[in-house]
Amino acid sequence: MITAEDVSWSYGATPVVAGVHLRTEPGRVLGLIGPNGSGKTTLLRLLHGALRGRSGRVSVDGDDLVGLGPREAGRRLAVVVQEGAGESTLTVAEMVLLGRSPRLGTFQRTGARDHAVAAACLERVGATHLAGRSFAGLSGGERQRVLIARALAQEATHLLLDEPTNHLDIRYQHEVLRLVADLAHRSEACAVVVLHDLNLAARYCDDLVLLGGGPHGGGVVAAGPAEEVLDPALLEPVYGIGVRPVRLEDRLHLLFEPFTHLTEEPA
Ligand code: ADP
Ligand code: MG
Repeated sequence: MITAEDVSWSYGATPVVAGVHLRTEPGRVLGLIGPNGSGKTTLLRLLHGALRGRSGRVSVDGDDLVGLGPREAGRRLAVVVQEGAGESTLTVAEMVLLGRSPRLGTFQRTGARDHAVAAACLERVGATHLAGRSFAGLSGGERQRVLIARALAQEATHLLLDEPTNHLDIRYQHEVLRLVADLAHRSEACAVVVLHDLNLAARYCDDLVLLGGGPHGGGVVAAGPAEEVLDPALLEPVYGIGVRPVRLEDRLHLLFEPFTHLTEEPA
């Protein structure tokens, strides 16, 4: 379980995340949604310790995140963030094997089990055929799947992902999110996923936190079970677009309508 109590972050004088409380539930997927710039990435970074707020507290399974060393943090939290290939000269297989680092002793080298776990994780994201390729030479979507495999290879308790479906074609958007949801649902783990696409959020998230960003004070506009948060009355003022919920085969889908008054010529 990851909890945030009164967590805040500002860039200069601009509050981006203000007084956020949240709690992930074991075996559930928590989605962070909100428009561009509403602070989703910043909040996720606060939750995995890449940013440390001046106030408030983040804890993981009851322990203050600040007090966990990097290795222990790596055993509890696996993170998939937007990442370029940079100067990486690693092969895909080596990149995934890096996920095993928090599992190894200080001078311990990777062994047969580490290689087996890494290979199995590549298989789960449909990327076995890429193992020998250079990571830097992959397409955005291939790279994203390899980074997810690396996070899975970490065998951490909890998984945090920032827009993991970016660059993925429609099939892998669903496969990756179904994998994340299965992992959470089959264990005491929880997953925290930043998502743009509200229909993917409706389908794969159990709970949602809707952020409104600066105009809404950097706080949480709504939080709770996904279907309660995906309420047009909550979404429309935050996103500035008309939202029409539709039920198909007992599943919630959202249709969007630009508000005509925004495009009409003034009288
Ligand atoms: P989201 O992920 O929801 O799109 P972010 O958390 O990335 O939002 O950003 C929230 C706000 O903080 C935005 O207004 C963004 O411009 C600003 N911001 C993000 N990173 C920085 C930074 N390094 N320096 C200054 N402002 C930043
Ligand atoms: Mg972001």
